[in-house]
Amino acid sequence: MTPTTQIACPQCDAANRVPTARLGDGPRCGVCKAPLFTGKPVALSELRFRRHLRICELPVLVDFWASWCGPCRAMAPAFEAAAATLEPRMRLLKVSTEEAPGLAAELAISSIPTLALFAAGREIARQAGALPAGRIIAWAESVFPTK
Ligand code: ZN
Repeated sequence: MTPTTQIACPQCDAANRVPTARLGDGPRCGVCKAPLFTGKPVALSELRFRRHLRICELPVLVDFWASWCGPCRAMAPAFEAAAATLEPRMRLLKVSTEEAPGLAAELAISSIPTLALFAAGREIARQAGALPAGRIIAWAESVFPTK
């Protein structure tokens, strides 16, 4: 059997199962035809985040941020650059703690920006404070080697 990986569509949230070896070949959603990877972090509400986390079999790297937070805004381009490198080995998501206060409280996000890496729906590591792109990538790969 061909190994497959399930991921959620960044546009319509449908579960898609893709041959793992073909994740980098520009797979598209079977429902809405949108690209399953855009090379950019996917900004999600709390509800959508929970769905993606449940569906996604890739490691999920999340940037918890807020619009009023200067260091968060400063790190946004670095996180976007990290997405271009880490996809399709990982899924990168952004969650605004202003829009998802319940989730932030549940996960005890005490400072922002906070990066958290989830595998199989569970948080396996977190890192508080802004990082440049190279260090975001190095940190994620050290926590969950994908190569
Ligand atoms: Zn879709």
